Amino acid sequence: MKVLVINAGSSSIKYQLIDMDTTDVLAKGNCSRIGLDGLFEHKTQDGRKLEKNIAMPDHGAAIKVVLEALTSGDYAVLQSMDEIYAVGHRIVHGGEKFKEAMLVTDDVIRGIEEVTPLAPLHNPGSVTGIKACRKEMPNIPHVVVFDTAFHQTMPRKAYLYAVPYEFYEKYAVRRYGFHGTSHRYLSERLAELMGKDKSEIKAITCHLGNGSSITAIDGGKCVDTSMGFTPLAGIPMGTRTGTIDPSVVTYLMEKENMTAAEMSVFMNKKCGFLGLSGISSDSRDIEDAAQAGDERAIRTQEVVRYEIVKYIGGYVAAMGGLDALVFSAGIGENNPNLRANVCRQLAYFGVKIDEAKNDTIIHGKEAEITAPGARVRTFVIPTNEEYMIAKDTLAVIAKAGK
Ligand code: ADP
Repeated sequence: MKVLVINAGSSSIKYQLIDMDTTDVLAKGNCSRIGLDGLFEHKTQDGRKLEKNIAMPDHGAAIKVVLEALTSGDYAVLQSMDEIYAVGHRIVHGGEKFKEAMLVTDDVIRGIEEVTPLAPLHNPGSVTGIKACRKEMPNIPHVVVFDTAFHQTMPRKAYLYAVPYEFYEKYAVRRYGFHGTSHRYLSERLAELMGKDKSEIKAITCHLGNGSSITAIDGGKCVDTSMGFTPLAGIPMGTRTGTIDPSVVTYLMEKENMTAAEMSVFMNKKCGFLGLSGISSDSRDIEDAAQAGDERAIRTQEVVRYEIVKYIGGYVAAMGGLDALVFSAGIGENNPNLRANVCRQLAYFGVKIDEAKNDTIIHGKEAEITAPGARVRTFVIPTNEEYMIAKDTLAVIAKAGK
């Protein structure tokens, strides 16, 4: 069964066509600069590659371009559109309304629109994407999978902020958490690799990429996560602050004469690795500069690693133990140095890795890197959000008896 996974943003649509019988990614690509000059990138499993500017005035036009490429011409991987069994859509924010994946209906679309004030930069693009896809593929089921859903099991003590409760009631101000599809994938894959039921495992999953989040998962359920009301909270990221004293925000707004909107852009785009180092938002540049002895890069690494260690330590305490630690995403999968540094600091909790093996685990390799005798098992697991979305899509359809 072939599932098309769609990740629509305000001016882009990323897609993957996955054969769920083999888990092969038959084709994937990206329509970007929608509404501008339109850039289409498309790659097939057997290495055929297309990259060209093509007019895509809106999301509907972009979807047509994708379907055309999938079904005809030199880059086709399908005989016809009928081979697409279903479409799975990634949605960033489901608020408190959506605790699991759902079959798309007009009501569900309205529901996603209702939580849009919580994700004004993300949800409108997703909704436009769903509407365009439904129009082009009206006869197959569409399913929405939410980044926030996995975190909806957090207990009240973990999601409430100490602001007047009426603001939670009135404005839905609380911790939501993001990257939920990734953390859920990691938790399920971890259970397979450990040969245990997920209900028996206390795990901490570290999704460390451009955006990073760390999640405490007890018995397969999220009990806490580092991102918050928005994906700005938690550990310092490529260009995002992570959690800082809220007074810094008002202080800097006064000092630098920034409006709320300017401050928001500043905290999202100018801080994190980039702000602290003045070098780059990319961890590779920071790593290279640190190796060459650059003080700015070294201080950035110190801060980032320290924050990661503190979150992990806090979550061990919150769960009253730890069985497994997982590293994933761009940095987690590719930076053995960071993994080794963080794990050394966690020796007290029973984390110990085989550092020689750790050094060889890069470029999407999946491996256990636990040292013999360690109480906690440590893994590197490449995340696979698209596969998880496709899997959820099939599960939702099966449950609905479609
Ligand atoms: P996003 O959050 O945008 O999906 P990624 O998960 O791709 O981001 O992570 C981007 C980060 O991962 C960057 O800091 C980058 O330096 C790092 N990264 C990606 N690939 C590699 C690699 N091969 N070696 C080292 N670092 C990498």
